[in-house]
Amino acid sequence: MKDSFDRNIDYVRIAVTDRCNLRCFYCMPAEGIPYEPKSHLLCYEEITRLLKVLGGLGFKKVRFTGGEPFLRKDFIKLLENTAALPTYESIHITSNGTLLQKHIPRLMELGITKINLSIDSLDPERFHKITRRNDFKKVFDTFHSLVEQGFKVKLNAVIMYGVNTQDIVPLAELAKTNAVDVRFIEEMPFNGGYKENIQMYSARDIFADLKKHYPTLEKLPSKHGETATLYQVKGHKGNIGVIPAFSRTFCNTCNRLRITSKGDIKSCLYDDGIFNIRDFMRSGITDEELADKFREIVRLKPKDGFEAEKSRKKSEKSLESMSSIGG
Ligand code: SAM
Ligand code: SF4
Repeated sequence: MKDSFDRNIDYVRIAVTDRCNLRCFYCMPAEGIPYEPKSHLLCYEEITRLLKVLGGLGFKKVRFTGGEPFLRKDFIKLLENTAALPTYESIHITSNGTLLQKHIPRLMELGITKINLSIDSLDPERFHKITRRNDFKKVFDTFHSLVEQGFKVKLNAVIMYGVNTQDIVPLAELAKTNAVDVRFIEEMPFNGGYKENIQMYSARDIFADLKKHYPTLEKLPSKHGETATLYQVKGHKGNIGVIPAFSRTFCNTCNRLRITSKGDIKSCLYDDGIFNIRDFMRSGITDEELADKFREIVRLKPKDGFEAEKSRKKSEKSLESMSSIGG
């Protein structure tokens, strides 16, 4: 499906829950966010239906995220349903890695091998400070298990001024001996409302640190819908990516829609949810009406994150937490 800027929209990201067992301080306050009642979340039959309809409209890639997707008891069932749909070329998961280990065999059976793990520091103490939980070992062990089992792993690290800039090079070094992509993300103001002013460590700053350490860093050609600017260090098995999530320099190749845990559609990360698909589905509409709604949403997708931000009804972005948006 093309939007009005001739972009091919074929990727949907679904936050399957707003609940999380970590409390990363760029994502939510220490006390957490007020969770939606379970009945407000999309149930797995509703998510499967949405995916069927989107598949019929040409969507080829889906990412399940959250909150922490593995907290949801019926998550594996949802993955089984999705794997049985003929339309999706790739099924991806973004996870904090704390609850994933025991599901590795089933993920392999289902052929779901593309996992993004969030890990913002290789220093257990700093990891604890950032996530407000002491789970570094669990996450790092899971990372190694996934790599050993041949999963296609990407590591996500949000880089924050004065917090974990010293982790950039050690994290990038993981791509030296492992065939993993290590991606550094600019902090965005979606943190559940407890901090407004972010002193940004920008994609440029991150790149400068990398270039200083790796003079042979080379930019790779960009891929369809890729938000990261990708780099390769000679001799390294994996790549390094920098994601200008706040600077928003990638919008002209955007290929995605987001569905939040309570069914708000975001046609841009920076809009404030343009339509609630849960209520629409629960009103008894047909699949064809659902498809028409998606066609309309895609047609109206804003040009970029700055345009989307201008049309927000709620003024404060930071009141939203990435845990309900899905990243
Ligand atoms: N809980 C899972 C995890 O942490 O990977 C999935 C959900 S999390 C919201 C998805 C991604 O969003 C993670 O990589 C996380 O680091 C990123 N994220 C969360 N809050 C962010 C923020 N304020 N700015 C930039 N990235 C953020
Ligand atoms: Fe949880 Fe992911 Fe948010 Fe961290 S970034 S609090 S792991 S949802």
